Amino acid sequence: MTQSFSELNLAPALAKAVAEMGYETMTPIQAQAIPQVLTGRDVMGAAQTGTGKTAAFSLPLLQRLLKHENASTSPARHPVRALVLLPTRELADQVAEQVKLYAKYTQLRSTVVFGGMDMKPQTLELKKGVEVLVATPGRLLDHIEAKNCVLNQVEYVVLDEADRMLDIGFLPDLQRILSYLPKQRTTLLFSATFSPEIKRLANSYLQDPITVEVARSNATASTVEQHFYRVDDDDKRGTLRQILRDRGLKQAFVFVNSKLGCARLARSLERDGLNTAALHGDKSQDERLKALDAFKQGNVDLLVCTDVAARGLDIKDVPAVFNFDIPFNAEDYVHRIGRTGRAGASGLAVSFVSGRDARLVGELEKLLGKKLEIEALELEQDRRPAGRFNDGQRAWQREEGEREPRESRPPRAPSAPRVSRAPADPFFDQPYEAKPVSEDAPPPQWDTAQRANAPKSLSPNIKQRRKVPALFKSSAPPPANS
Ligand code: AMP
Repeated sequence: MTQSFSELNLAPALAKAVAEMGYETMTPIQAQAIPQVLTGRDVMGAAQTGTGKTAAFSLPLLQRLLKHENASTSPARHPVRALVLLPTRELADQVAEQVKLYAKYTQLRSTVVFGGMDMKPQTLELKKGVEVLVATPGRLLDHIEAKNCVLNQVEYVVLDEADRMLDIGFLPDLQRILSYLPKQRTTLLFSATFSPEIKRLANSYLQDPITVEVARSNATASTVEQHFYRVDDDDKRGTLRQILRDRGLKQAFVFVNSKLGCARLARSLERDGLNTAALHGDKSQDERLKALDAFKQGNVDLLVCTDVAARGLDIKDVPAVFNFDIPFNAEDYVHRIGRTGRAGASGLAVSFVSGRDARLVGELEKLLGKKLEIEALELEQDRRPAGRFNDGQRAWQREEGEREPRESRPPRAPSAPRVSRAPADPFFDQPYEAKPVSEDAPPPQWDTAQRANAPKSLSPNIKQRRKVPALFKSSAPPPANS
């Protein structure tokens, strides 16, 4: 099997970009997939993120598109030739960035479109003409409907993170998009697992695909030290802080199962004095990208995230991943802990198991094919967070015995601007605890407003019908040609 990039005979423009990226040896998925894609075969790849799969499809695809390379300014000379579909905005952005780097010395154009952003700048890019279009399915359909892009000259389609696209419910969108594409094309499908649904999708849309597999699906990297601790829900935050401090961890991902839980935990940790950002599906696109960037730059220490938002993100050297909640979907465990211990580096994965997680642990044991050892962890008595000193040190990194009594700690200036913190989100910046409501307290504003507007006979909780101008009044007949 080919192992070195130099054996591939890539075009000089691509070889130069690869050399600039510092790649010499191909990763296993690249060694298996690139030669196949270069021959035009459909490929079904079982590969997780972090295995180098983006280059595995981008490089051969760009190589094959080079025959269309031209310097014309006419959009008609730059139709979409390759379409890469991904489930989330972050992944689309990440893949598009890599494609741009690989294509940097060619005249092939690429762009990315995803939801949550203004369509106008995307439309302008599309109208200029691009050979490689990276997209999330929903937004791509919006552009197709708005006639901003034509897909009748597509030669390559990549369905990346296909299992996640199906999990999210993108199947109908995918089917619609694929129906717009020429039948004569090369289709590449990458998925972390080959579930029966994925196999059905492949049977419908791939022609005689070759299967390449780099690691047993659902395998976890051997470089990741995994621990499962029995922790009560109320003690999870304290335990997290204790482990961060004891292990001297500088940064970590903290996974939770729900958007609301994510926002709440991030708020609490931030109040504990930890520099935290939240990454979940309800955050605006801009906030998500900024949070990620702040984490990558080291300005944020803890990234609290849900699975959808964090799937496949290529953030190098995350020293630890915490499963604050055991994932509902056992396969997500593999993805979550895949954020650490990448490319041979060692990593730590800590999972908190509470009393009601027995079923989820059982699912995990089934998937991993082994009995999990659930350890007990003694939580120090004073596990209250120590607050954040403005000494440039992370709050959890205080030596044993160095913790000061709460009173002697310098007061935390609530209004002190935090350097490069994650973007402010006014909604989540509100305290989330339910306030005790006193009997004489005035009713909330939304209630008073509603009461004031409600007609006397209606309960204030029943919405009034909106007054809509009648289209056809019974007294006046509609115009003949309406
Ligand atoms: P991916 O699985 O495509 O998200 O890639 C994971 C990371 O591996 C990215 O940061 C790539 O830049 C990097 N990478 C991809 N291929 C190679 C290679 N052959 N050698 C070294 N790093 C690579």
